[in-house]
Amino acid sequence: MAQLSPMMAQYFEIKKKHKDEIVFFRLGDFYEMFYDDAILASKELELTLTGRDCGQEERAPMCGVPFHSYESYVAKLIAKGYKVAICEQMEDPATAKGLVKRDIIRVITPGTVIESSMLQDDKNNYIGSVYLKNGCIGVCFADVSTGSAHTTELAGEKLSNQLIAELCRYNPSELLFNTALLDFKDVTAYIKQHMTCSVELMEDECYAPDEVERLLTEQFGADWSKATGLSRDGNAHAALSALLGYLHRTQKKGVERLKLVHSYAEAQYMQLSPVTRANLELTETMRGREKRGTLLWVLDKTQTAMGKRLLRSWLEQPLVSSVAINRRLNCVQALYSENIQRAELSEALSHVFDMERLMTRTVYGSATPKEIYALASTCTQLPLIRELASGCSCPELEELAQRIDPLEDIRDRIFAALEEETPATLKDGGVIKQGYNAEVDELRDIVHGGKGYLSQLEARMKEETGIRTLKVGYNRVFGYYLEVSKSFTDQVPENFIRKQTLANAERYITEELKQLEGKILGASERLLALERQLFEDLLQDLSAQILRVQNTASALAQLDVFTALAQVAVNNNYVRPVVDDGDELIITEGRHPVIEQMPKGSLFVPNNTLLDCGENNMLIITGPNMAGKSTYMRQNALITLMAQIGSFVPAQECRVGVADAIFTRVGASDDLAAGQSTFMVEMTEVAEILQYATKRSLVILDEIGRGTSTFDGMSIARAVVEHIAGQIGCKTLFATHYHELTELESAMDCVKNYNIAVKKRGDDITFLRRIVRGPADDSYGIQVAKLAGLPDSVTKRAKEVLRALEASAPKKQQVEQLDFGVVEEMSSPALPSEILDKLRDTDLNTLTGIEGLQFLCEIKNALQ
Ligand code: ADP
Ligand code: MG
Repeated sequence: MAQLSPMMAQYFEIKKKHKDEIVFFRLGDFYEMFYDDAILASKELELTLTGRDCGQEERAPMCGVPFHSYESYVAKLIAKGYKVAICEQMEDPATAKGLVKRDIIRVITPGTVIESSMLQDDKNNYIGSVYLKNGCIGVCFADVSTGSAHTTELAGEKLSNQLIAELCRYNPSELLFNTALLDFKDVTAYIKQHMTCSVELMEDECYAPDEVERLLTEQFGADWSKATGLSRDGNAHAALSALLGYLHRTQKKGVERLKLVHSYAEAQYMQLSPVTRANLELTETMRGREKRGTLLWVLDKTQTAMGKRLLRSWLEQPLVSSVAINRRLNCVQALYSENIQRAELSEALSHVFDMERLMTRTVYGSATPKEIYALASTCTQLPLIRELASGCSCPELEELAQRIDPLEDIRDRIFAALEEETPATLKDGGVIKQGYNAEVDELRDIVHGGKGYLSQLEARMKEETGIRTLKVGYNRVFGYYLEVSKSFTDQVPENFIRKQTLANAERYITEELKQLEGKILGASERLLALERQLFEDLLQDLSAQILRVQNTASALAQLDVFTALAQVAVNNNYVRPVVDDGDELIITEGRHPVIEQMPKGSLFVPNNTLLDCGENNMLIITGPNMAGKSTYMRQNALITLMAQIGSFVPAQECRVGVADAIFTRVGASDDLAAGQSTFMVEMTEVAEILQYATKRSLVILDEIGRGTSTFDGMSIARAVVEHIAGQIGCKTLFATHYHELTELESAMDCVKNYNIAVKKRGDDITFLRRIVRGPADDSYGIQVAKLAGLPDSVTKRAKEVLRALEASAPKKQQVEQLDFGVVEEMSSPALPSEILDKLRDTDLNTLTGIEGLQFLCEIKNALQ
């Protein structure tokens, strides 16, 4: 076998250490990929696959991307779950002797990207680390792009469910875990089926106590336990340290950015199962997985990227402490009532740059001059924002205002160093401001004024020597020279050094000219290098201030969210909920926050709710399809959730006793793709609710028992209701089409029947959307089918079938109807069946006087 070319040997040396990653190998102006990487990348990125001589008989498969636009290609690969190792030239190829040195400078993975082009502004990008040992899971989620981490510990009966709940809360794009977790099959299956998350199995050495101690000390100091709030017992600190180790291995640089560690207790937040998150459409719709049509879409009037991310995370983790919730509500209320302050704050915040992520790029050294300039512009807004926030006479806002550091020194430092119209990249210079550095100014003079110096020199030489024809010229071999025609060579002074003889002229250089030449030719290169150096110094200075910037950024993010929530409350006519530790949910004129914002939403009919842990513990809601049962139930869940993130709510009045969890079981979330039948999914979800709901939970059951035969379904539904009402006692809304279940009201004290009123006239029904006490009297299936546009012939036939069915399975309640049928047949000449139907199907209670008369007229007409 032939020898590999030296460069290919170098490539293989590097690739050996990065088998799992696609290696982007820098070759001049391109990043090239070879062999399998090339074949894969050419497919994924639609690049042309070529070949390169590699010293062997067969050419190496190769494809490449231009280095200046590599980000978009990397972004695509990352989005597809690949990792990319960037291999750079470590020395200037122009001056390198022999093979250029190359090395991996960074491995980009889904959880570690910091480039804004690869991240979504309004979303945190989490990398998770979980460590299972002795029945306890240490959990850590970090957002490398903002430098913050959240840790907790899980211990309990159902570890895997708890872990899945945490994974759903943070939705990491990358996850590290230890081998013990492989035994949690339901967790690994969940990740595979439901998450877009690349998974990394960590060696056990990563969790060795010495290694953990070393990494944490290096990151947070010897007193790391105090700095992070993590104890040396437990597993959370080991999860965090494994994550740090992984970052060191992949990032090489910038890991120190991860500074803020929040340890939280699971119990600090409302429990929301993955299914409930999806059902309530908090951040994405069930159908299109879009933001439009979600609660986030309604609430997100934030101005900054930091605010957007914070609002999303608040939505994903509502609070359960009424004290903490009311503190948030106080802020929203203050801004709600101060219209002018709110508008001005909103305007000022709209000029605030994403400081959090910028600081990360600053620490990594990849921030651009334009971005740094934008940071300074942001700083100019800070005093005003501070003043506006503290002008709202709200203690909580005042506290936030105090946390905003005006960062004047940072602003001044940047403004002093950077040109106002500073370019987006360093490559063409023009970054450093005039007057900031004497050498930069001088070099610029030379670069721009070089020609001027030469003509000055020429003029001076002419005068000194008296040689009229003396002129300055340039060629590639000798550089700058003084040319003197043959006739004047005898007047040439001694300090001229002859360089070249032409037919009718001589060319000379002088010491002065040589110096000038050196200056001019070297100046632009030196200028670029110096500007880069000065900019890097600036980044380093800023990096040292990271904690101050980060604290300010976090205060700004909160202020932004409060301002947005206040604005939404004003726009949409929300009210401040009374949030306490009681057990009631009382809503007057509540609305569905999302549906009322939809195009037809102005017609939304508000409804009241009364739920508690006593007589109104379980509401059984009946009514025809499409009446609005599901909407009503979700609206109650959403109002509760909004209150618990600290938002005002769509109602006229509202009292929320804090719920520790919301559970939903909503029909039609088929999981067929996962190979489970609808009924199986349904029952698994119900089982989970029965297992985890407490007295303080809010439970929504929408049509359970549908996935099986009627009697089975009804029996299960009934048993579930009895269990919840009898054993758990959580506030429950239960929509069902089994009318038989409405009997429960008389059997159990805590059950109340409600239905959604419809107005009936003959075969026609109108949805009134009003929830009223009592059971619905019919299921109106055929009328709804008619409303949906089923042809008359079909609905008519359906009625016949229905009647026949009812006749063959007579029940107590239907006996009279059966009698009716017989009467109808015998006396059919007297009254046509359509008229009988019409009479039977009309609820006189819902008709107005005029409608009543009209109805009579219609009957009369039909008889004639
Ligand atoms: P159900 O669950 O009873 O079949 P849905 O809750 O799905 O009915 O509601 C059916 C339709 O009625 C939805 O498209 C919704 O937009 C509309 N709707 C529901 N409640 C209201 C209301 N209170 N005001 C106006 N429209 C409503
Ligand atoms: Mg429904």
